[in-house]
Amino acid sequence: MLDVVVIGGGIAGLWVLDRLAAAGFSAILLERAALGAGQTIAAQGIIHGGAKYEVEGKGTAASESIAAMPDRWRASLRGERAPDLTAAKVLTERHLMLARGFGLKAELASRLLQARRSRLDRAEWPEACALIAQLRRVIGLEEPVVDVPSVLQAFAAQQRERVHRAEVVALHQDGDSVRLTLRGPHGRPGELAARFAVLAAGAANHLLLPAARQQLRPLHMVLARGAPGPLFAHLLVGPARPALTITSHALEQGFVWYLGGDLAERGVALDAEALIKQARTEIAAAFGAAATTGMRFATKRIDRAEGAMPGKRRPDGAVLQQEGRVLALWPTKLALAPAAAEQALAWLRGKASPGERGPLPLADWPRPEVAHALWEDVEQWN
Ligand SMILES: Cc1cc2nc3c(=O)[nH]c(=O)nc-3n(C[C@H](O)[C@H](O)[C@H](O)COP(=O)(O)OP(=O)(O)OC[C@H]3O[C@@H](n4cnc5c(N)ncnc54)[C@H](O)[C@@H]3O)c2cc1C
Repeated sequence: MLDVVVIGGGIAGLWVLDRLAAAGFSAILLERAALGAGQTIAAQGIIHGGAKYEVEGKGTAASESIAAMPDRWRASLRGERAPDLTAAKVLTERHLMLARGFGLKAELASRLLQARRSRLDRAEWPEACALIAQLRRVIGLEEPVVDVPSVLQAFAAQQRERVHRAEVVALHQDGDSVRLTLRGPHGRPGELAARFAVLAAGAANHLLLPAARQQLRPLHMVLARGAPGPLFAHLLVGPARPALTITSHALEQGFVWYLGGDLAERGVALDAEALIKQARTEIAAAFGAAATTGMRFATKRIDRAEGAMPGKRRPDGAVLQQEGRVLALWPTKLALAPAAAEQALAWLRGKASPGERGPLPLADWPRPEVAHALWEDVEQWN
């Protein structure tokens, strides 16, 4: 019997699949739509090392568990550790923290300026920074930003034989196995049994495992094409939290700014039109009204799914919950997928050794495509 079925082809499922296969477990992954189609393709791709938490004053536990992630990802991006992500694109090695219109508190500034975080001289500022009124400080954070579709492509190329397009519509556990009911493309029915299941279905985890305890954090993101120049930055307009988190992505002509941060949290209460108006106002306030004249906007609503925490606080790291032979996991962040995968592997190793090797099931089922970047699928820019 198959050792493990991984359900969900976002960053968590793909990273887990790679680690399980490398450890000798027979494993396949089932994805109902396209690889990355949930939160992963909507991620900004920032491999956080904890600086944002420091700005938000969210304690050190979060910072500590995430601090190792930029180096962990770099090891894979350089091909020094599995999974081999050398085919993935790094959009920038350094994300910036831009402090505008106020002095960073001395204590925070000194924390941010610790090892591997440097204050940039004016000559090193990206061009778009020249537009920002009252820009006081530019701090370089050693947090790379990855091109998410290319990360997904890198996994897809390596794991092709183990990844299938199928929706898991029901999951039952009996004494020594997990039994799944499947629905493939065009309603094709199927069944599968495995010794264990890893549930990495994001916001859908609790649908397959009602005992799973999760929390959702809604966001309303903004896409802006015709932006004034490439920029990867948290823009602080007050001392507390990033008003705008900006990443830049190439289009056939020009590029798009993908905007998150406080704007996307406040945007949940707004419809698309009102959020676009708000985004224009905030961009104009920071970069000057002229910067917005050629910009066209779209928005995207998406929920972050996390393992439930008391008081709905944000988890410090990946969250794993076990129910018999099923392990549900939420990486909390794209950046934390490697940590989630190591924890899942440790859980499995604690339960069983790899079984007999035989042919993998569902060999004739189709493979999912990789999800398109959000800006490729926008129907109308406003
Ligand atoms: C707007 C936004 C921006 C973000 N930016 C960042 C960032 O810059 N840096 C960072 O570190 N983190 C970021 N995050 C967080 C990060 O995106 C998530 O933590 C991470 O992508 C979660 O990955 P996942 O694999 O657990 O879930 P998902 O990516 O949601 O994947 C779940 C997959 O399961 C599939 N699925 C669901 N049900 C079934 C079923 N029944 N059968 C088969 N397949 C199923 C879905 O189609 C989907 O592909 C961001 C999140 C959001 C929403």
